[in-house]
Amino acid sequence: MSFEPGAVAGNGRIGLCEPHIAGNEWIYIKECLDSGWVSSAGNFVGRFEQEMANYLGGGVEAVAVVNGTSALHISLLIAGLQPDDEVLMPALSFIAPANTVRYCGAWPVFLDVDQETWQLNPAQLESFLSEESEKRGKELFNRSTGRRIKAVLPVDLLGHPADMDPIIDTAHQHGLVVIEDATESLGAKYKGRPVGTFGDISCLSFNGNKLITTGGGGMIITDKPEWAARARYLTTQAKDDPLEYIHGEVGFNYRLTNLQAAMGCAQLEQIDKFIEAKRGIAARYEEAFRDLTGITPMPQAEWAQSVFWLYTVLIDEELVGSSSRKLMLKLGQSGIQARPLWQPLHKSPALANCQAFQVRVAEQLQNRALSLPSSVGMTENQQKMVIQLIATFFDF
Ligand SMILES: *Cc1c(COP(=O)(O)O)cnc(C)c1O
Repeated sequence: MSFEPGAVAGNGRIGLCEPHIAGNEWIYIKECLDSGWVSSAGNFVGRFEQEMANYLGGGVEAVAVVNGTSALHISLLIAGLQPDDEVLMPALSFIAPANTVRYCGAWPVFLDVDQETWQLNPAQLESFLSEESEKRGKELFNRSTGRRIKAVLPVDLLGHPADMDPIIDTAHQHGLVVIEDATESLGAKYKGRPVGTFGDISCLSFNGNKLITTGGGGMIITDKPEWAARARYLTTQAKDDPLEYIHGEVGFNYRLTNLQAAMGCAQLEQIDKFIEAKRGIAARYEEAFRDLTGITPMPQAEWAQSVFWLYTVLIDEELVGSSSRKLMLKLGQSGIQARPLWQPLHKSPALANCQAFQVRVAEQLQNRALSLPSSVGMTENQQKMVIQLIATFFDF
């Protein structure tokens, strides 16, 4: 019955964040199989793109791709990222966005997150740019590395939007492109507007643990038709003449298949219910933890409507006398999956030699944070079990 850290949930166990397949998935996928349209040319791909664009409020185009990582990779290329350029991003994030910067031969620079929201700290972005960068002609350079700074990449972490207004203002004042990594936060809103629409170009993921899933999948969102066209071009091997196999540049095979898009259409039909479930789970955790000393519930800024993708708490070791990792092991012994947050990216061996600018909060959060079971399909009884076990951990 016990839950090894990193294991997948099965009989009787309570997993961290599992897919919920309860709509037209079987029907739509069967349509693909029956018709033979299984690959990336097929009606569901365009339909999924259109329905996502509509969901995000129209005025944008969506280009479906194989996963969120490829969406980020292509977005960076479209933003004009060149080898040896730099991209500013939070030190606290899953590693994918930083890796995609490296795919381009460019360098991530890690900034801190805000204590209150856990998201990229806009004041720190401002002070980095005013203290550490200088304008030469029309372009911005990092004083200490000498490299050109090209873009800012805010990540909407854990289902909650980054503080977009000051981030975008600051970035645009400095002539930087904004690439929004909204892969963890589809469905969330910033000042009433959906995440995934704030970047000059934005990215979504439909990985198995994300709010809606296609098994694996992603999307590029932009309101610039020429950028959307370029995304289609680059993700289909940059074909200039498909018949004669003429390719204008080195492209990629990054298009989503019709099978996956079929699943995406079915999942998107259920998104409002999924969000309601996530917010219900968050409200019950919040209520249970509010009055416990030593545990901090997950924040939601007043300007935000979070989808609480992964409900995460902070454990104060000094007050509790035990750590987030010990709580994780205790939950695991009862078949309940919990997980720490990511190693801060400036500590990652994979990203050695990248600059970090005064990163403190990201490290403190990572020491104390624990993500709790947050699956859309988790029952209230299951959640009660999780809450009760955590409460006994605090009986000391
Ligand atoms: C999940 C995730 C991605 C990448 O998504 P994949 O579809 O798994 O490639 C990118 N950025 C962040 C912050 C993520 O959590």
